[in-house]
Amino acid sequence: MLQLQSTTLRAYNTFGIDVQATRLAEIATSEDILEALEIRQKENRELLILGGGSNLLFTRDVDDLLLLNRLKGISHSFLSEDEVLVEAAAGENWHTFVQFCIENNWGGIENLSLIPGNVGASPMQNIGAYGVEIKDVFHSVRAMHVADGSIHEFDAPTCKFGYRESIFKREQKGKFIILSVSYKLTRRNHQLNTTYGAISQELQSQGISNPSIRDVSNAVMAIRRSKLPDPAVLGNAGSFFKNPVVDNSLLESIRLKYPNVVAYPAGDSHSKLAAGWLIETAGWKGYRRDDAGVHALQALVLVNYGSATGAQIWQLSQDIVDDVHSKFGVELEREVNVY
Ligand code: FAD
Ligand code: NAP
Repeated sequence: MLQLQSTTLRAYNTFGIDVQATRLAEIATSEDILEALEIRQKENRELLILGGGSNLLFTRDVDDLLLLNRLKGISHSFLSEDEVLVEAAAGENWHTFVQFCIENNWGGIENLSLIPGNVGASPMQNIGAYGVEIKDVFHSVRAMHVADGSIHEFDAPTCKFGYRESIFKREQKGKFIILSVSYKLTRRNHQLNTTYGAISQELQSQGISNPSIRDVSNAVMAIRRSKLPDPAVLGNAGSFFKNPVVDNSLLESIRLKYPNVVAYPAGDSHSKLAAGWLIETAGWKGYRRDDAGVHALQALVLVNYGSATGAQIWQLSQDIVDDVHSKFGVELEREVNVY
């Protein structure tokens, strides 16, 4: 029988926002989910799935049925001498799963080491870091339809993965409970991606010239630990905004005034601007208003110094959006899911 709790969500979101939930239940089996769907229907409530709470900003109390995803289990089958198909239940911790794959010498997700949260959220925004996105190794997702409990399987084209995007964040938002995700990984001849960001520099400084997937994972972890605030110490949800993709004509007009603008080619006639550079150049890095702030080392990360409310963080984010727009003519979009 599903236990419904009334509790503060402070420990359930990495921003550490103190809102109340009136109906929180842990789901560990398909039966738990079906029972939750019955309660939802009987009480005519909305439903919200909570993974690690590392990509969420709560701005209000939650009266919806809040399901804490605790679905566990990892299985695999070898497709060939070269490839393995690994299926992980949605409630598995993402970083622990990455380490499990590395221990088995299964390659493809080592660049995604140390991303907080659960496996179930990995397709939500097509998680990405250091030149690798989940879509690069994705096979399929199994999900339950909230409306009628039916099970569906989605392949990569159906998920419509984009930059920090998928159908689960757009047209199918809130309509499916992701149960498990399958990834196709390599067993040998791993395709290492070490050219992005500071990975090759980090490997060089460690004296490693012929890296393994373990070496790449270790390098990524070292870089992340040196730059990103640990949510256990300082509340945050990683990058608050996406890197905006703009027309090259806008980039050139920005470059006239700011020759050091950080930009990368993004398809025909477009470029991806580093949102962190825009926010920092607009003067927000290290800014603090009450307990809501902009991280001192990485301007893309908004932080909670202790008792900030979700509304305060949201207002700070809106002031940044407005200021960046007035200074550069660029509209920043939030990456974090605002509730
Ligand atoms: P949650 O925050 O719990 O949920 C996020 C959204 O997904 C919510 O809308 C929720 O309802 C929905 N959801 C979650 N699970 C399910 C499910 N099973 N079924 C249906 N809906 C579901 N992200 C990156 O892409 N790359 C990074 O490098 C990165 N670095 C980060 C670093 C830090 C320090 C932090 C705090 C965050 C970072 N993030 C990064 C963001 C975040 O960790 C990822 O987006 C992660 O996948 C979120 O997982 P979660 O389980 O915490 O999701
Ligand atoms: P960084 O290496 O300082 O780079 C700054 C920005 O430039 C990043 O946003 C990255 O875009 C882009 N970039 C760097 N090298 C690039 C290249 N060769 N080609 C195209 N774009 C390039 O960034 P960081 O803040 O330390 O983060 C490192 C990685 O971890 C990034 O991939 C970042 O996305 C990821 N990360 C994500 C979150 C999150 O919450 N989403 C939080 C922390 C870190 P991309 O962001 O598009 O990669």
